[in-house]
Amino acid sequence: MTRSDPVYDVVIAGGAASGLALAAAVRQALGEGVAIAVVDPSPPPPGPAARPPLRTVAIAEGPRLLLERIGAWEAIEPSAQAIVKMEIMDGGVRDAVRLPHLHFDSKNGSPLAHMAFNDDVVAALSALCDRLGVQRVAAPVARWRPGRRVAELGLADGQSLRARLAVAADGARSKLRALAEIPAYGWDYDQSGIVATIAHEYDHEGGAEQHFLPAGPFAILPLPGRQSSIVWNERRADARALIALDAEDFVRQLEFRFTPKLGAIRLASRVEAFPFRFQVARRFVAGRLALVGDAAHVVHPIAGQGLNLGLRDVAALAETIVGAMRLGLDPGSPSALADYQRTRRFDVAASGMGMDLMNRLFSNDLGPLRFVRDLGLRLVDRAPRLKDRLILEAGGAGRDAPRLLRGVAL
Ligand SMILES: Cc1cc2nc3c(=O)[nH]c(=O)nc-3n(C[C@H](O)[C@H](O)[C@H](O)COP(=O)(O)OP(=O)(O)OC[C@H]3O[C@@H](n4cnc5c(N)ncnc54)[C@H](O)[C@@H]3O)c2cc1C
Repeated sequence: MTRSDPVYDVVIAGGAASGLALAAAVRQALGEGVAIAVVDPSPPPPGPAARPPLRTVAIAEGPRLLLERIGAWEAIEPSAQAIVKMEIMDGGVRDAVRLPHLHFDSKNGSPLAHMAFNDDVVAALSALCDRLGVQRVAAPVARWRPGRRVAELGLADGQSLRARLAVAADGARSKLRALAEIPAYGWDYDQSGIVATIAHEYDHEGGAEQHFLPAGPFAILPLPGRQSSIVWNERRADARALIALDAEDFVRQLEFRFTPKLGAIRLASRVEAFPFRFQVARRFVAGRLALVGDAAHVVHPIAGQGLNLGLRDVAALAETIVGAMRLGLDPGSPSALADYQRTRRFDVAASGMGMDLMNRLFSNDLGPLRFVRDLGLRLVDRAPRLKDRLILEAGGAGRDAPRLLRGVAL
């Protein structure tokens, strides 16, 4: 590294959904006025022919508006599916019928959320960053040195990059967070989510279902055509045993849990299990460093909020960076970083703990608890204003939300 090497305004470690969305949002707002690079050793996701995508994300309305505003939604929409209704039921695996306790319907033609494959979201953002001229560096971050005016990121291939602001978007096991010595607190759930794509006989009509079964939530989430994605929570050992079954036995186990409404079912993908964890970083900022996405927090996917929270970080941080740079200020200054941390801390703590509580409340089969929670669900179902409020909160696009989550340009 020499003194004549360029100093980037922003270098982002991690080029998946959170990192790429941040790069695109900032570059789109500031154009050539910002020097920005994304560092990631992994190539963008392969096309569907190479390896059909498996993991899906439910994109809430606020994050969808962000994706639309920065120019990525157009490429995601053709393979996304709108969720127009959602039913929540509580019951046992072998119950002949599980009655819905809580319904949500779309309002004013606006879907509750959209389902998309995570790989499609990343591929669309990657192509957008290329169009916008975001510089890409294919190497992992291996060293970190914060400084008074610039920070230095050392890459495993020996290169070094200097930046006024570095962003850790490098996932739950963030190397950059560890190098910056920011502790992360949390716990493992003895739960894994079994994920697969299921083809079914009848149309889902945009309906999603969440079944609270004794081992944890079982979600059926609509995909384009007569297909749905499942996220099936089981204890880790049981999940391992289930994914080791042959396809026929796996489908038989699935039939006990799946909704009969969709008729005959078959496996339309491979099956994988993802272990679940709750984790939150002690701080979201350090000297010349901000954390976004899973690098900052990992939440239980019970309400499909992980990436949504990450995109809410992106909206807040992009607004901070663009606001500072338009005024000729330093995007990595302590006051800019403090602003970002202040905006995000409460939302992340409230959402993370809320999902943890919900998972604990619903992942067991105690009779009295079941009675109380079912009563709670039915009470909520009869309170239309509360339901509207819950949809608005989950959507993250409320009045005080950062501009991009309201679809407003930076
Ligand atoms: C089963 C399951 C279901 C889910 N369902 C939903 C849902 O419905 N809705 C929702 O919103 N969320 C959902 N989530 C959560 C969501 O998938 C994650 O929150 C999201 O993918 C995190 O994105 P990210 O960009 O922050 O991190 P990641 O996707 O983890 O990306 C991190 C990137 O950093 C790179 N990297 C790693 N190390 C380095 C390094 N040293 N230097 C540089 N780069 C590095 C990696 O190559 C990777 O590209 C679900 C998760 C699971 C497991």
